[in-house]
Amino acid sequence: MSKSEELNRLKTKCIECRACELGKTRKNIVFSDGSADAKILLIGEAPGADEDASGIPFVGRAGKLLTKLIEDCGFSRKDDFYICNTVKCRPPENRVPTDEEKKLCENFLLEQIKTVNPKVIVLCGATSAKSFLGSKIKISQIRGKWYKLFNNIDTTVIFHPSYLLRNHSEEHGSPRWLTKQDLLKIKEFI
Ligand code: SF4
Repeated sequence: MSKSEELNRLKTKCIECRACELGKTRKNIVFSDGSADAKILLIGEAPGADEDASGIPFVGRAGKLLTKLIEDCGFSRKDDFYICNTVKCRPPENRVPTDEEKKLCENFLLEQIKTVNPKVIVLCGATSAKSFLGSKIKISQIRGKWYKLFNNIDTTVIFHPSYLLRNHSEEHGSPRWLTKQDLLKIKEFI
């Protein structure tokens, strides 16, 4: 079975899933975007309203900014990235998903990682980073650092594009500038 077929099989199971409360209020599951053959797998926090409506991760204003930053650094979102979230259904009113919801949804994410088998994983934003690096971390202190996670895969952390929407400067040292440096660094690992 090809990676795409394997992921489609998993998506079908996800569509049927109502394991946690989020399954009751979602419009669509938000499973993934990008390529099954990508070398970079990006994990965001949870779907928002635009994502819930479309079934595609990172399509709202923040998602458009993420795409622009990816392209500014010479990557293709469609071909170089496989994009997903810690939970596949939107939390009501965009609240942070609970530990229990993340735990109940974790198998989908772990199967996605196993199937795509990326060279690099990018944890996008504080909630995603806290899920795998511990609740005490501060995103400003760990972004741009590299870890070995998920069975020894090179893993890094970037700011969430929602935060970057509130910080317009692209000057040297600004959060947007730092995020571009973090994305460019990935090229050394793939
Ligand atoms: S968030 Fe995950 S575990 Fe909860 S219903 Fe959706 S797919 Fe199932």
